[in-house]
Amino acid sequence: MKHLDAMKLAATPCAWYAKAKGSKRKRQSEWLRRAAVETYFHGHYGAFDQTIATVNTPPAPSKQRRLDRLMLEFYLHPPQTLDEALRNRRHEHGLGECPSCGNPLMPDTLDHFLPKEHWPEFSILPNNLVPQCRDCAPHKGTRYYCGTNMRAMFVHPMYSAALASVRFRIDVSLHGGRPQFAIKISVKAGTSDTDMERIKLHLAKLHVRERIQTFCVRHWSHWREKVETLGIDIEVMFQGLVGPTVTSPNGRNWAMAFMKGVLRDADVLAALGKKPLLAPPPPEDTVELVWDGPGATGRSGGQQAGRSEKRTRPPKAGPATP
Ligand SMILES: [Zn+2]
Repeated sequence: MKHLDAMKLAATPCAWYAKAKGSKRKRQSEWLRRAAVETYFHGHYGAFDQTIATVNTPPAPSKQRRLDRLMLEFYLHPPQTLDEALRNRRHEHGLGECPSCGNPLMPDTLDHFLPKEHWPEFSILPNNLVPQCRDCAPHKGTRYYCGTNMRAMFVHPMYSAALASVRFRIDVSLHGGRPQFAIKISVKAGTSDTDMERIKLHLAKLHVRERIQTFCVRHWSHWREKVETLGIDIEVMFQGLVGPTVTSPNGRNWAMAFMKGVLRDADVLAALGKKPLLAPPPPEDTVELVWDGPGATGRSGGQQAGRSEKRTRPPKAGPATP
């Protein structure tokens, strides 16, 4: 999982507040241009970093609900420039795995780290919007503070590097011919006790261990089907995907840990269906399509296509004959 410190933007002045303030939504943006309102929001934004850092007490609840809900409106119905910024944060981050759980899929949702349902004033604050996978979303939901553990439930991937030290290990064994997956999660040596407790709570609240079990069962079926239908040499493929880190049993995400677990055991590899490659299919008999007009290329293709079009043009409709 990746530390997203590069995604952290200046909270004040907030570039996204400026986008909302400059929008054409006259009635709403006029509110944001009022000096007292701007001061109110920038006061909140200025305190955001401290709010995230204070993990042992719950954040102060929203006070000016009407004004706060105004920000929620800008998130739910953003003007064009703000909508572009939101879309970029949701999709253009270059992440190959969820920064909150290690799910090896490109995260395509935005999580309000301080849930917008309880703290709507942070609805469009960039640092409160974290890329997250769709499987984390229902577990995180509108939760933030855990009264039982007396601390924030989740670790913010932009404000803490703790999650980046998490490593997954999956030991695969066979019982009655069926695979069993033993999941171990570790952190880098030297991680503080506080960070370890926070990581454990974070991963537990997101049900990460249970979700890895489900992932392994599905992944096993997926690769078995690939072996059956495509004749993949699973050992060669996994070694290529894992690369030089094959010497370490740990993976930075679930897929890496799964592949390494399979590669460590010859019986497991055989059970997954290591098979010789199938003979390649014969080349298909095809004819290239050639287009006329600008950008057309190829041997006299344009001219021929033009003549062909003339021949196939339907005759002009004449007057109806009785
Ligand atoms: Zn996730």
